[in-house]
Amino acid sequence: MRVHEAGALHEEYTGGHGPAWLRMPVDVNDLIPQLWARTVNRDDAGVLTVGGVDVNKLAAEFGTAAYVVDEADFRSRLRDFRGSFSANFPDGAVYYAGKSFLCKAVARWVAEEGVNLDICTGGELATAVAAGFPGERLAFHGNNKSEAELAAALDAGVGTIVLDSRIEVERLTRLAKQRGVRPGVMVRTKVGVEAHTHEYIATAHEDQKFGLSLEAAVKAAKHILAADVLHLKGLHSHIGSQIFETTAFEVAARRVIGAHEQIQRETGKTLPELGLGGGFGIAYTTQDDPQSPRQLADGLRKIVDHECDNLGIDIPSITVEPGRAISGPTTFTLYEVGTVKSVDLGAGRVRSYVSVDGGMSDNIRTAMYGATYSVTLASRLSDAPPILGRVVGKHCEAGDIIVRDEFLPGDIKPGDLIAVPGTGAYCRSMASNYNHVPRPPVVAVADGTARLIVRGESVDDLLNLDVG
Ligand SMILES: *Cc1c(COP(=O)(O)O)cnc(C)c1O
Repeated sequence: MRVHEAGALHEEYTGGHGPAWLRMPVDVNDLIPQLWARTVNRDDAGVLTVGGVDVNKLAAEFGTAAYVVDEADFRSRLRDFRGSFSANFPDGAVYYAGKSFLCKAVARWVAEEGVNLDICTGGELATAVAAGFPGERLAFHGNNKSEAELAAALDAGVGTIVLDSRIEVERLTRLAKQRGVRPGVMVRTKVGVEAHTHEYIATAHEDQKFGLSLEAAVKAAKHILAADVLHLKGLHSHIGSQIFETTAFEVAARRVIGAHEQIQRETGKTLPELGLGGGFGIAYTTQDDPQSPRQLADGLRKIVDHECDNLGIDIPSITVEPGRAISGPTTFTLYEVGTVKSVDLGAGRVRSYVSVDGGMSDNIRTAMYGATYSVTLASRLSDAPPILGRVVGKHCEAGDIIVRDEFLPGDIKPGDLIAVPGTGAYCRSMASNYNHVPRPPVVAVADGTARLIVRGESVDDLLNLDVG
Protein backbone atom coordinates (compact mmCIF):
# COMPACT_ATOMS: atom_id res chain seq x y z
CA MET A 1 0.00 0.00 0.00
CA ARG A 2 1.24 3.44 -0.88
CA VAL A 3 -0.02 6.22 1.32
CA HIS A 4 -1.27 9.63 0.40
CA GLU A 5 -2.46 8.50 -3.01
CA ALA A 6 -5.23 11.01 -2.50
CA GLY A 7 -2.71 13.80 -3.00
CA ALA A 8 -2.29 15.25 -6.45
CA LEU A 9 0.57 14.16 -8.67
CA HIS A 10 3.79 16.03 -8.24
CA GLU A 11 3.94 17.42 -11.79
CA GLU A 12 0.89 19.49 -11.21
CA TYR A 13 2.61 21.37 -8.42
CA THR A 14 6.30 21.05 -9.10
CA GLY A 15 6.46 20.98 -12.87
CA GLY A 16 8.53 17.82 -12.56
CA HIS A 17 11.06 19.46 -10.24
CA GLY A 18 10.17 17.04 -7.46
CA PRO A 19 10.82 13.29 -7.56
CA ALA A 20 8.17 11.00 -9.06
CA TRP A 21 7.02 9.68 -5.69
CA LEU A 22 6.36 13.09 -4.19
CA ARG A 23 2.67 13.77 -3.54
CA MET A 24 1.02 17.00 -2.61
CA PRO A 25 -0.31 16.33 0.90
CA VAL A 26 -4.03 16.53 1.52
CA ASP A 27 -3.21 18.79 4.45
CA VAL A 28 0.37 19.94 4.92
CA ASN A 29 -0.12 19.87 8.72
CA ASP A 30 -0.94 16.14 8.70
CA LEU A 31 1.35 13.74 10.52
CA ILE A 32 1.74 10.52 8.53
CA PRO A 33 1.81 7.82 11.25
CA GLN A 34 4.57 5.59 9.89
CA LEU A 35 7.02 8.53 9.84
CA TRP A 36 6.64 9.49 13.47
CA ALA A 37 7.33 8.03 16.87
CA ARG A 38 4.13 6.74 18.45
CA THR A 39 3.55 9.48 21.02
CA VAL A 40 4.06 12.34 18.53
CA ASN A 41 0.94 14.43 18.05
CA ARG A 42 -0.26 18.00 17.68
CA ASP A 43 -1.81 19.74 20.67
CA ASP A 44 -4.93 21.87 20.48
CA ALA A 45 -2.90 24.84 19.28
CA GLY A 46 -1.32 22.68 16.56
CA VAL A 47 2.12 22.53 18.16
CA LEU A 48 3.96 19.24 17.72
CA THR A 49 4.24 17.26 20.95
CA VAL A 50 6.12 14.12 21.92
CA GLY A 51 5.66 12.19 25.14
CA GLY A 52 3.30 14.99 26.19
CA VAL A 53 5.92 17.75 25.83
CA ASP A 54 5.59 20.40 23.13
CA VAL A 55 8.46 21.32 20.86
CA ASN A 56 8.42 25.02 21.79
CA LYS A 57 9.25 23.97 25.34
CA LEU A 58 11.92 21.55 24.16
CA ALA A 59 13.57 24.23 22.02
CA ALA A 60 13.48 26.73 24.88
CA GLU A 61 15.07 24.28 27.30
CA PHE A 62 17.57 22.41 25.11
CA GLY A 63 18.08 24.69 22.12
CA THR A 64 18.12 23.70 18.48
CA ALA A 65 19.25 21.72 16.60
CA ALA A 66 18.33 18.79 18.87
CA TYR A 67 17.61 15.12 18.39
CA VAL A 68 14.39 14.29 20.25
CA VAL A 69 13.85 10.62 21.16
CA ASP A 70 10.50 9.17 22.21
CA GLU A 71 11.58 6.73 24.92
CA ALA A 72 8.26 4.87 25.05
CA ASP A 73 8.41 4.39 21.29
CA PHE A 74 12.00 3.13 21.43
CA ARG A 75 11.08 0.63 24.12
CA SER A 76 7.96 -0.51 22.30
CA ARG A 77 9.93 -1.18 19.11
CA LEU A 78 12.41 -3.25 21.10
CA ARG A 79 9.51 -5.20 22.61
CA ASP A 80 7.80 -5.65 19.23
CA PHE A 81 10.94 -7.14 17.70
CA ARG A 82 11.64 -9.35 20.69
CA GLY A 83 8.04 -10.56 20.88
CA SER A 84 7.63 -11.19 17.15
CA PHE A 85 10.92 -13.01 16.77
CA SER A 86 10.66 -15.08 19.93
CA ALA A 87 7.19 -16.19 18.81
CA ASN A 88 8.75 -17.57 15.62
CA PHE A 89 12.22 -18.51 16.87
CA PRO A 90 11.89 -19.44 20.57
CA ASP A 91 15.64 -20.22 20.92
CA GLY A 92 16.74 -17.23 18.85
CA ALA A 93 17.68 -13.74 19.91
CA VAL A 94 17.25 -10.18 18.70
CA TYR A 95 20.32 -7.96 18.83
CA TYR A 96 19.85 -4.21 18.56
CA ALA A 97 22.52 -2.87 16.17
CA GLY A 98 24.12 -0.25 18.39
CA LYS A 99 25.91 1.50 15.57
CA SER A 100 22.59 3.01 14.46
CA PHE A 101 22.54 4.95 17.75
CA LEU A 102 24.09 4.08 21.08
CA CYS A 103 24.53 5.84 24.38
CA LYS A 104 24.31 4.58 27.96
CA ALA A 105 20.58 5.30 28.30
CA VAL A 106 19.80 3.39 25.10
CA ALA A 107 21.97 0.46 26.20
CA ARG A 108 19.94 0.31 29.43
CA TRP A 109 16.62 0.41 27.53
CA VAL A 110 17.85 -2.45 25.35
CA ALA A 111 18.94 -4.50 28.37
CA GLU A 112 15.68 -3.84 30.23
CA GLU A 113 13.52 -4.83 27.27
CA GLY A 114 15.27 -8.20 26.96
CA VAL A 115 17.06 -7.46 23.71
CA ASN A 116 20.74 -8.21 23.08
CA LEU A 117 23.23 -5.69 21.70
CA ASP A 118 25.43 -5.71 18.63
CA ILE A 119 28.54 -3.52 18.76
CA CYS A 120 31.38 -3.13 16.31
CA THR A 121 34.18 -1.09 17.87
CA GLY A 122 36.00 -0.71 21.16
CA GLY A 123 34.14 2.58 21.70
CA GLU A 124 30.73 0.95 21.35
CA LEU A 125 31.90 -1.87 23.64
CA ALA A 126 33.05 0.68 26.24
CA THR A 127 29.62 2.37 26.09
CA ALA A 128 27.85 -0.95 26.65
CA VAL A 129 30.19 -1.80 29.54
CA ALA A 130 29.71 1.67 31.07
CA ALA A 131 25.94 1.09 30.98
CA GLY A 132 26.37 -2.25 32.76
CA PHE A 133 25.16 -4.22 29.73
CA PRO A 134 25.61 -7.99 30.36
CA GLY A 135 28.66 -9.19 28.40
CA GLU A 136 27.15 -12.50 27.35
CA ARG A 137 24.35 -10.63 25.55
CA LEU A 138 26.81 -8.70 23.36
CA ALA A 139 27.87 -9.60 19.82
CA PHE A 140 31.01 -7.94 18.52
CA HIS A 141 31.05 -7.22 14.76
CA GLY A 142 33.41 -5.27 12.53
CA ASN A 143 35.92 -6.09 9.85
CA ASN A 144 39.09 -4.93 11.60
CA LYS A 145 38.99 -5.63 15.31
CA SER A 146 42.35 -4.81 16.80
CA GLU A 147 44.13 -6.96 19.31
CA ALA A 148 43.25 -4.39 22.00
CA GLU A 149 39.57 -4.48 21.01
CA LEU A 150 39.46 -8.28 21.03
CA ALA A 151 41.22 -8.33 24.39
CA ALA A 152 38.67 -5.84 25.76
CA ALA A 153 35.90 -8.07 24.40
CA LEU A 154 37.34 -11.09 26.21
CA ASP A 155 37.69 -9.06 29.42
CA ALA A 156 34.04 -8.01 29.13
CA GLY A 157 32.92 -11.60 28.54
CA VAL A 158 31.35 -10.78 25.16
CA GLY A 159 29.07 -13.68 24.25
CA THR A 160 29.72 -13.76 20.50
CA ILE A 161 32.58 -12.38 18.46
CA VAL A 162 31.79 -12.34 14.75
CA LEU A 163 35.01 -13.03 12.86
CA ASP A 164 35.40 -11.31 9.52
CA SER A 165 38.72 -12.65 8.16
CA ARG A 166 41.27 -15.43 8.61
CA ILE A 167 43.59 -12.89 10.25
CA GLU A 168 40.93 -12.21 12.89
CA VAL A 169 40.47 -15.95 13.43
CA GLU A 170 44.20 -16.29 14.16
CA ARG A 171 44.31 -13.09 16.23
CA LEU A 172 41.48 -14.23 18.50
CA THR A 173 42.75 -17.83 18.69
CA ARG A 174 46.09 -16.55 19.97
CA LEU A 175 44.46 -14.30 22.58
CA ALA A 176 42.05 -17.00 23.74
CA LYS A 177 44.90 -19.50 24.16
CA GLN A 178 46.95 -16.97 26.15
CA ARG A 179 44.04 -16.39 28.49
CA GLY A 180 42.77 -19.94 28.62
CA VAL A 181 39.26 -18.90 27.58
CA ARG A 182 36.89 -20.27 24.94
CA PRO A 183 34.90 -17.39 23.45
CA GLY A 184 31.82 -17.98 21.31
CA VAL A 185 32.37 -16.97 17.68
CA MET A 186 30.56 -16.80 14.36
CA VAL A 187 32.04 -16.49 10.88
CA ARG A 188 30.74 -13.66 8.72
CA THR A 189 29.97 -14.66 5.14
CA LYS A 190 29.11 -12.67 2.08
CA VAL A 191 26.51 -14.63 0.27
CA GLY A 192 26.82 -12.91 -3.10
CA VAL A 193 23.41 -11.21 -2.97
CA GLU A 194 22.91 -7.82 -4.58
CA ALA A 195 20.57 -6.11 -2.16
CA HIS A 196 18.60 -3.30 -3.78
CA THR A 197 19.90 -0.49 -1.67
CA HIS A 198 22.63 2.13 -1.91
CA GLU A 199 26.06 0.71 -2.85
CA TYR A 200 27.64 1.91 0.40
CA ILE A 201 25.11 0.06 2.56
CA ALA A 202 24.97 -3.20 0.55
CA THR A 203 27.23 -5.74 2.21
CA ALA A 204 26.82 -9.17 0.65
CA HIS A 205 28.16 -8.94 -2.90
CA GLU A 206 31.70 -10.22 -3.44
CA ASP A 207 33.48 -6.97 -4.21
CA GLN A 208 33.11 -5.23 -0.84
CA LYS A 209 35.03 -5.43 2.40
CA PHE A 210 32.80 -7.44 4.76
CA GLY A 211 32.94 -11.18 5.38
CA LEU A 212 34.36 -14.22 3.67
CA SER A 213 32.99 -15.79 0.50
CA LEU A 214 30.84 -18.85 1.24
CA GLU A 215 33.66 -21.18 0.26
CA ALA A 216 36.23 -19.37 2.42
CA ALA A 217 33.75 -19.19 5.32
CA VAL A 218 33.19 -22.95 5.20
CA LYS A 219 36.97 -23.46 5.26
CA ALA A 220 37.44 -21.02 8.16
CA ALA A 221 34.62 -22.71 10.09
CA LYS A 222 36.19 -26.15 9.66
CA HIS A 223 39.55 -24.73 10.69
CA ILE A 224 38.03 -23.27 13.89
CA LEU A 225 36.30 -26.57 14.69
CA ALA A 226 39.50 -28.56 14.13
CA ALA A 227 41.67 -26.20 16.21
CA ASP A 228 39.10 -26.45 19.03
CA VAL A 229 40.17 -23.24 20.79
CA LEU A 230 37.17 -21.06 19.93
CA HIS A 231 33.54 -22.13 20.35
CA LEU A 232 32.04 -21.90 16.87
CA LYS A 233 28.36 -21.04 17.14
CA GLY A 234 27.66 -20.75 13.43
CA LEU A 235 27.71 -18.59 10.33
CA HIS A 236 26.58 -15.01 10.04
CA SER A 237 25.20 -13.09 7.08
CA HIS A 238 24.13 -9.45 6.89
CA ILE A 239 23.23 -8.34 3.39
CA GLY A 240 22.86 -4.61 3.85
CA SER A 241 20.58 -1.86 5.07
CA GLN A 242 17.26 -0.23 4.25
CA ILE A 243 16.04 -3.33 2.42
CA PHE A 244 12.34 -3.71 1.65
CA GLU A 245 12.01 -6.79 -0.51
CA THR A 246 12.15 -10.24 1.11
CA THR A 247 13.63 -11.88 -2.01
CA ALA A 248 17.11 -10.71 -1.05
CA PHE A 249 16.74 -12.21 2.44
CA GLU A 250 15.36 -15.39 0.91
CA VAL A 251 18.31 -15.91 -1.45
CA ALA A 252 20.80 -14.99 1.31
CA ALA A 253 19.18 -17.39 3.77
CA ARG A 254 19.17 -20.21 1.22
CA ARG A 255 22.87 -19.81 0.55
CA VAL A 256 24.00 -19.40 4.14
CA ILE A 257 21.83 -22.32 5.33
CA GLY A 258 23.38 -24.38 2.52
CA ALA A 259 26.86 -23.59 3.87
CA HIS A 260 25.68 -24.27 7.43
CA GLU A 261 24.44 -27.71 6.37
CA GLN A 262 27.68 -28.42 4.46
CA ILE A 263 29.82 -27.69 7.53
CA GLN A 264 27.63 -29.91 9.73
CA ARG A 265 27.64 -32.74 7.16
CA GLU A 266 31.39 -32.63 6.53
CA THR A 267 32.45 -32.33 10.19
CA GLY A 268 29.69 -34.26 11.95
CA LYS A 269 29.33 -31.32 14.36
CA THR A 270 26.26 -29.21 15.06
CA LEU A 271 26.31 -25.45 14.64
CA PRO A 272 23.78 -24.20 17.18
CA GLU A 273 23.19 -20.72 15.72
CA LEU A 274 22.71 -18.87 12.47
CA GLY A 275 22.89 -15.08 12.18
CA LEU A 276 20.73 -13.44 9.53
CA GLY A 277 21.71 -9.82 10.24
CA GLY A 278 19.52 -6.74 10.08
CA GLY A 279 18.82 -4.13 7.46
CA PHE A 280 15.02 -3.99 7.66
CA GLY A 281 13.79 -0.86 5.90
CA ILE A 282 11.83 1.97 7.52
CA ALA A 283 9.67 4.82 6.25
CA TYR A 284 11.52 8.03 5.53
CA THR A 285 8.92 9.65 3.29
CA THR A 286 5.15 9.65 3.10
CA GLN A 287 5.37 7.02 0.34
CA ASP A 288 7.34 4.32 2.20
CA ASP A 289 5.37 1.51 3.81
CA PRO A 290 7.68 -0.90 5.65
CA GLN A 291 6.76 -4.31 7.08
CA SER A 292 6.03 -4.69 10.78
CA PRO A 293 8.35 -6.77 12.99
CA ARG A 294 5.61 -9.41 13.02
CA GLN A 295 5.51 -9.59 9.22
CA LEU A 296 9.31 -9.70 9.06
CA ALA A 297 9.57 -12.46 11.66
CA ASP A 298 6.76 -14.52 10.08
CA GLY A 299 8.40 -14.10 6.67
CA LEU A 300 11.86 -15.15 7.88
CA ARG A 301 10.35 -18.12 9.70
CA LYS A 302 8.79 -19.40 6.46
CA ILE A 303 12.07 -18.98 4.59
CA VAL A 304 14.16 -20.71 7.27
CA ASP A 305 11.63 -23.53 7.74
CA HIS A 306 11.54 -24.14 4.02
CA GLU A 307 15.32 -24.22 3.55
CA CYS A 308 16.01 -26.39 6.62
CA ASP A 309 13.21 -28.74 5.61
CA ASN A 310 14.67 -29.10 2.12
CA LEU A 311 18.06 -30.02 3.55
CA GLY A 312 16.61 -32.23 6.28
CA ILE A 313 18.29 -30.37 9.14
CA ASP A 314 17.10 -28.97 12.45
CA ILE A 315 16.44 -25.25 12.59
CA PRO A 316 19.36 -23.53 14.32
CA SER A 317 18.80 -20.68 16.77
CA ILE A 318 18.21 -17.69 14.55
CA THR A 319 19.59 -14.29 15.49
CA VAL A 320 18.66 -11.01 13.82
CA GLU A 321 20.08 -7.51 14.27
CA PRO A 322 17.69 -4.68 13.53
CA GLY A 323 19.24 -1.26 14.05
CA ARG A 324 17.47 1.33 11.94
CA ALA A 325 14.08 -0.41 12.28
CA ILE A 326 14.26 0.12 16.04
CA SER A 327 16.03 3.45 16.49
CA GLY A 328 15.16 5.24 13.23
CA PRO A 329 11.48 6.10 13.73
CA THR A 330 11.91 6.93 17.45
CA THR A 331 13.55 10.29 16.83
CA PHE A 332 13.03 13.56 15.02
CA THR A 333 15.51 16.37 14.65
CA LEU A 334 14.19 19.74 15.74
CA TYR A 335 15.62 22.74 13.91
CA GLU A 336 14.91 26.45 13.87
CA VAL A 337 14.46 28.10 10.50
CA GLY A 338 17.03 30.83 9.90
CA THR A 339 16.48 31.99 6.35
CA VAL A 340 14.02 31.26 3.54
CA LYS A 341 14.95 31.87 -0.09
CA SER A 342 12.83 31.29 -3.19
CA VAL A 343 14.53 29.99 -6.30
CA ASP A 344 12.80 30.43 -9.64
CA LEU A 345 12.64 27.10 -11.46
CA GLY A 346 11.00 28.60 -14.54
CA ALA A 347 7.41 28.39 -15.83
CA GLY A 348 6.10 29.93 -12.66
CA ARG A 349 7.52 27.24 -10.39
CA VAL A 350 9.59 28.06 -7.35
CA ARG A 351 11.48 26.07 -4.80
CA SER A 352 11.91 27.42 -1.28
CA TYR A 353 15.30 26.85 0.30
CA VAL A 354 14.73 26.69 4.05
CA SER A 355 18.02 27.02 5.96
CA VAL A 356 18.26 25.60 9.47
CA ASP A 357 20.72 25.66 12.37
CA GLY A 358 22.32 22.30 11.59
CA GLY A 359 22.85 20.30 8.43
CA MET A 360 25.14 17.63 7.06
CA SER A 361 27.06 17.59 10.36
CA ASP A 362 24.00 16.20 12.17
CA ASN A 363 22.53 14.27 9.22
CA ILE A 364 25.01 13.14 6.60
CA ARG A 365 22.69 10.55 5.09
CA THR A 366 21.12 12.76 2.45
CA ALA A 367 24.52 13.92 1.19
CA MET A 368 26.18 10.52 1.48
CA TYR A 369 23.49 8.08 0.33
CA GLY A 370 20.99 10.31 -1.40
CA ALA A 371 18.63 9.45 1.48
CA THR A 372 15.12 10.90 1.41
CA TYR A 373 13.47 12.53 4.39
CA SER A 374 10.22 14.30 5.14
CA VAL A 375 9.69 17.41 7.25
CA THR A 376 6.88 19.25 8.95
CA LEU A 377 6.33 22.70 10.42
CA ALA A 378 6.35 21.89 14.14
CA SER A 379 5.84 25.09 16.15
CA ARG A 380 2.42 26.02 14.75
CA LEU A 381 -0.28 25.11 12.24
CA SER A 382 -0.53 26.90 8.94
CA ASP A 383 -3.32 27.27 6.42
CA ALA A 384 -1.03 28.81 3.80
CA PRO A 385 -0.96 26.94 0.48
CA PRO A 386 1.89 24.40 0.29
CA ILE A 387 5.13 25.16 -1.53
CA LEU A 388 7.86 22.84 -2.73
CA GLY A 389 10.58 23.10 -0.09
CA ARG A 390 14.18 21.98 0.35
CA VAL A 391 15.65 21.97 3.84
CA VAL A 392 19.34 22.84 3.83
CA GLY A 393 21.94 23.30 6.55
CA LYS A 394 24.45 26.01 7.39
CA HIS A 395 27.55 24.26 6.04
CA CYS A 396 29.77 25.49 3.25
CA GLU A 397 28.69 22.97 0.66
CA ALA A 398 25.87 23.02 -1.85
CA GLY A 399 25.32 19.33 -1.09
CA ASP A 400 24.45 20.25 2.50
CA ILE A 401 20.86 19.13 2.11
CA ILE A 402 18.76 17.52 4.84
CA VAL A 403 15.41 17.14 3.08
CA ARG A 404 15.67 17.27 -0.70
CA ASP A 405 11.96 17.56 -1.54
CA GLU A 406 8.95 18.05 0.63
CA PHE A 407 5.94 20.32 0.70
CA LEU A 408 5.93 22.96 3.41
CA PRO A 409 3.42 25.70 4.19
CA GLY A 410 4.00 28.74 2.00
CA ASP A 411 4.31 31.09 4.98
CA ILE A 412 7.31 29.32 6.53
CA LYS A 413 9.56 31.95 8.06
CA PRO A 414 12.61 32.56 10.27
CA GLY A 415 11.97 31.52 13.87
CA ASP A 416 9.64 28.65 12.94
CA LEU A 417 10.59 25.24 14.28
CA ILE A 418 10.59 22.36 11.86
CA ALA A 419 10.92 18.64 12.64
CA VAL A 420 12.53 16.00 10.43
CA PRO A 421 11.29 12.52 11.41
CA GLY A 422 13.17 9.22 11.13
CA THR A 423 16.53 10.59 12.29
CA GLY A 424 17.11 8.14 15.14
CA ALA A 425 19.42 5.92 13.10
CA TYR A 426 22.78 6.87 11.62
CA CYS A 427 22.38 10.60 12.23
CA ARG A 428 23.84 11.30 15.70
CA SER A 429 26.03 8.22 15.33
CA MET A 430 27.51 9.62 12.10
CA ALA A 431 27.56 13.26 13.20
CA SER A 432 30.68 15.35 12.62
CA ASN A 433 32.05 18.75 13.54
CA TYR A 434 32.33 19.96 9.96
CA ASN A 435 32.74 23.75 9.87
CA HIS A 436 33.32 23.55 13.64
CA VAL A 437 29.63 23.14 14.30
CA PRO A 438 29.12 21.49 17.71
CA ARG A 439 27.09 18.29 17.63
CA PRO A 440 23.49 18.65 18.92
CA PRO A 441 22.18 17.15 22.16
CA VAL A 442 20.00 14.06 22.33
CA VAL A 443 16.89 14.61 24.44
CA ALA A 444 14.72 11.72 25.61
CA VAL A 445 11.06 12.43 26.31
CA ALA A 446 8.71 10.17 28.25
CA ASP A 447 5.51 10.73 30.25
CA GLY A 448 5.61 14.50 30.11
CA THR A 449 9.29 14.77 31.07
CA ALA A 450 12.26 15.59 28.88
CA ARG A 451 15.83 14.83 29.89
CA LEU A 452 19.21 15.09 28.28
CA ILE A 453 20.77 11.71 27.47
CA VAL A 454 23.66 13.01 25.38
CA ARG A 455 24.85 16.54 26.07
CA GLY A 456 25.21 18.86 23.09
CA GLU A 457 28.73 20.03 22.36
CA SER A 458 29.84 23.61 22.86
CA VAL A 459 32.51 25.51 20.98
CA ASP A 460 34.57 25.12 24.17
CA ASP A 461 34.41 21.35 23.74
CA LEU A 462 35.88 21.75 20.26
CA LEU A 463 38.55 24.19 21.44
CA ASN A 464 39.51 21.81 24.26
CA LEU A 465 40.66 19.30 21.64
CA ASP A 466 42.68 21.91 19.83
CA VAL A 467 45.91 21.83 21.84
CA GLY A 468 48.03 23.66 19.24
C1 LIG B 1 24.67 -2.29 10.30
C2 LIG B 1 24.46 -3.69 10.70
C3 LIG B 1 23.23 -4.09 11.17
C4 LIG B 1 22.04 -3.17 11.28
O1 LIG B 1 21.62 -2.64 10.08
P1 LIG B 1 20.24 -1.80 10.08
O2 LIG B 1 20.08 -1.37 8.67
O3 LIG B 1 20.45 -0.65 10.98
O4 LIG B 1 19.18 -2.71 10.55
C5 LIG B 1 23.09 -5.41 11.56
N1 LIG B 1 24.12 -6.27 11.50
C6 LIG B 1 25.33 -5.92 11.04
C7 LIG B 1 26.42 -6.90 11.01
C8 LIG B 1 25.55 -4.62 10.63
O5 LIG B 1 26.74 -4.27 10.16
